[in-house]
Amino acid sequence: MTLRQNHAPSTFDITSRSIAYFSMEIALAPQLPTYSGGLGVLAGDTLRSAADIGAPMVAVSLAHRRGYFRQHLSPEGQQTETDVPWSPAATLPSAGKRIELWMNGRRVFVEAWRFDVVGVTGHVVPVFLLDTDVDGNHPWDRTLTDHLYGGDSFYRLCQETVLGMGGVHMLHALGCRPEVHHMNEGHAALLALGLLEDCFGPMGGRPLAGATEADFDAVQQQCVFTTHTPVPAGHDQFGPDQMMQILGPERSRIIERAGALHNGCMNMTYLALRFSRFCNGVAMQHGKVSQHMFPGHAIHSVTNGVHAATWLSRPFQRLLDAEIPLWRTDNGYLRSAYGIAPEQIAATHRINKLRLLQVVGERTGVRFDAEVLTLGFARRVATYKRASLLFHDIARLSSIAEKIGGLQILYAGKAHPADDLGKGLIREVFRAASRVKSPSLRVVYLENYDWELGATLTQGVDVWVNTPLRPYEASGTSGMKAALNGVPSLSTLDGWWIEGCAEGVTGWAIEDCDTEAAEAASLYGKLEHGIAPLFGDRRGWARMQQHCLAMNGSFFNTQRMLEQYVHNAYFPAEFAGEAARLPEFQHQPLREVEREPALM
Ligand SMILES: *Cc1c(COP(=O)(O)O)cnc(C)c1O
Repeated sequence: MTLRQNHAPSTFDITSRSIAYFSMEIALAPQLPTYSGGLGVLAGDTLRSAADIGAPMVAVSLAHRRGYFRQHLSPEGQQTETDVPWSPAATLPSAGKRIELWMNGRRVFVEAWRFDVVGVTGHVVPVFLLDTDVDGNHPWDRTLTDHLYGGDSFYRLCQETVLGMGGVHMLHALGCRPEVHHMNEGHAALLALGLLEDCFGPMGGRPLAGATEADFDAVQQQCVFTTHTPVPAGHDQFGPDQMMQILGPERSRIIERAGALHNGCMNMTYLALRFSRFCNGVAMQHGKVSQHMFPGHAIHSVTNGVHAATWLSRPFQRLLDAEIPLWRTDNGYLRSAYGIAPEQIAATHRINKLRLLQVVGERTGVRFDAEVLTLGFARRVATYKRASLLFHDIARLSSIAEKIGGLQILYAGKAHPADDLGKGLIREVFRAASRVKSPSLRVVYLENYDWELGATLTQGVDVWVNTPLRPYEASGTSGMKAALNGVPSLSTLDGWWIEGCAEGVTGWAIEDCDTEAAEAASLYGKLEHGIAPLFGDRRGWARMQQHCLAMNGSFFNTQRMLEQYVHNAYFPAEFAGEAARLPEFQHQPLREVEREPALM
């Protein structure tokens, strides 16, 4: 572990922090295994932008001492996993506080480590990583902050209790009294109970049993909730027995009164919705879809972004520093990439591509050709993402590759260790790749998709491919990283791409069809008749790369996103007066996508 943080605690004032951001995972540094994928990357990017704009934010997560996992793939694509242990004590300063949490019928001590996210002008957003591996704890409780998304549902609810309730108590112990608590996904919803229970909350430490609707409403005024998936299985639920055993009868009664028992189970999304004054989905369409899923609550939309300085390659950063230096403090100036010669953007991307091909060579021994059109597809493996759609018709794909002078495809992605279906999908991609016989078509699956590989891929490929089944991609952010680096997307119109796609300008839309075969045919058609001819036209391709950076990079970043949260969710009254506090939210008109999507 090369990362070591020793900022003096005086570099920030914890008591002045008015926004507390709670997330089960946060990608803080490439070396720290405290995230699994998109949700954690978004959380980290949000905090990096908060530090950049000087937002008075503080964040809470868990230490995840054994990480998520490192992925290993056999020659057949069989995934196995190993732990990624790290030592918080050797890496981060201690927060210096210990709190007690009553759960599971016993007392659990919780301590915390502090990671400082430092912004472009030196502003610090401190992140507290809660840790139960503490002397005096029951041996089982000591493992509670080991594995991100590990263990069974009992372990998970214990973790969510530590995050939500432990997090509120820890902030209190540190002298922090936030006005706004942001639940990044339902995992953090128990923070509402923490607020009810804590003596600095609206109840002032009175017993929970006496909580009134007015107390509930007072907590609601302090909370904001972002939901992240329209896939029903993505919304955490716990059986009533587990709820009773872990949280005890008093808190369980509150959960029931709050309407968070759904089909007999404690549902973290309903808990978060009841206790939040502002709720949102993560792209315009996802807000609409979530509104259909939860008709009794007003669901807004705030479209996700990525942290520009984190995901732009070094060569692009140098180019932008020279041409539009203001981009670092105000990402809106990325729009001025229209003032840079397209050839310079193309030449910078070329450096990224060569670096990617070098990494591929080092990792796999496969030498890709820098002149050949190279596609990238990397994401968490889930059925709706349809990783093998590209291989729907291998003969057709091979003949396109032969006709256009070759085609190279890079894959990456992890399946959750307990997801046998997902692991099967990786093997399916391997099997499809092994059936390719044409020397013009080359496919490589790269092991262990993580922050660094994600950056290298999105910076270096020519086209970023995404094939989710509508409407299950809430947002997606990897295509935004690609756009920043001048890489167009070829994607179904789902998630952010509904907003980001200008056909033939920033990329291409795979048409929305009734069958998978028809969608694959649309994909092949765009590849053969749209992408390949433009790729052969150096000037035209360079202009497209410029559009990606200038049009999409200047908008799909977390600075713009965070400013929308500040303006619409955290402090609306400061911006538009009391009248704006609970506006009738109107879903904004979206591009027509042919069919109404149907949820499972
Ligand atoms: C950006 C990123 C993601 C999220 O990308 P999606 O488009 O949502 O798939 C996931 N994993 C890693 C490692 C990333 O860098």
